[in-house]
Amino acid sequence: METVIRVQVNYGGFVYVSTKDWPGRSVCTVFLRGCPLRCSYCHNVAIQAGTNELDIGEVIRKIEDSLLLVSGIIFSGGEPTLQGDALAALARAAKERELLVGIQTNGYFPDVLAHLIEEQLVDRIALDYKTRWEGYSRRTEGYAGATEEDYSRQAQRSVQICEKAWREGRLPEFEIVLTLFWENEKEVLSIAETLPRVPIVLNQGIRKRFWKEWELSRKENGKPYRSESEVKGERPPLTYDELAKIGGKITKLGRTIKIRTADTGEVIYESDRNRWIACKR
Ligand code: SF4
Repeated sequence: METVIRVQVNYGGFVYVSTKDWPGRSVCTVFLRGCPLRCSYCHNVAIQAGTNELDIGEVIRKIEDSLLLVSGIIFSGGEPTLQGDALAALARAAKERELLVGIQTNGYFPDVLAHLIEEQLVDRIALDYKTRWEGYSRRTEGYAGATEEDYSRQAQRSVQICEKAWREGRLPEFEIVLTLFWENEKEVLSIAETLPRVPIVLNQGIRKRFWKEWELSRKENGKPYRSESEVKGERPPLTYDELAKIGGKITKLGRTIKIRTADTGEVIYESDRNRWIACKR
C-alpha cells in the first residue's frame, strides 16, 4: 500500500529527465531548497536559502509525470539532507514507484544518511567533499541549530557511514566527489590521502560566481577593481590532462578514480583488475 506522509517540502526545482545526474542512467531530479554551506562555485545559488513550501503530494505528482522516461531519481539541492523528514518521505514514495534513489550531498548531516541507508531508501550516494578553500566556513545565515558541528567532522562521519554500508552491500553505489580548481590541488590531495578506498571522482570545477561578481563590480564602478583572488578566478578550469596528472599523485592504491570534465564526460580508471578496465562514458 502506498505510504505518503503529509509533510511540507522546501522546494527548489524539478528536472523531468536528466542524463547527467546519474552517469549511465536516465533520472528525474528534485532540488530541495536550503544549504548551510556557501561554496564559491555553487551552481544553485538561487536555492541556497529562502522558502518555497510545497505539499509533498505536489512533488510526488511531478515524479509520477516522469515515470515513463526514467529509472531513477536524484535528490539534489541545496543540501537535500537538510530536510531529513521530507527527503525520507520522498525517497519512500520514489521506491514505491520502483525508482532507484540517488542523493547528491555535501555530507553535513550524517544521521540522515544513516537513516536512509538503514531503511533501504537509497541506492547511490555521491558525497561532495568540500575543501576549506571553497569557502564553506563562511556560512552567513540560518541553520544555527543544525550546523553547530564543524563541516569536516560531519563529512568524515558521513564518509564512514557510507563506506561501511557500501562494503557491506547495503549501499550499491558510493563515490566521493572532489571538485578541483587550480589552487586547491594541495588540499584535495591531502584529503584524498585520508579517505578510505572508495571510488573518487575528480571533478572539474568552474568558478562561475567569481566571474559574475567581477562583471558586476566592473559595471558599478566603471573601472574594475580586481583583487588577487578575482584575477586568479579568471583562469579557465583545469583540463582533463591536468586533472589526470593530479589523479596520478593520489598515492593510496587500490581504488577507482573517475575524472569528470565538461569536454570528456567521465573517464574511469579502475584499480581492481577483476573489474572493467579504464573506460570512458
Ligand atoms: S554544498 Fe552544494 S548547494 Fe551548498 S553551497 Fe556548496 S555547491 Fe551550493
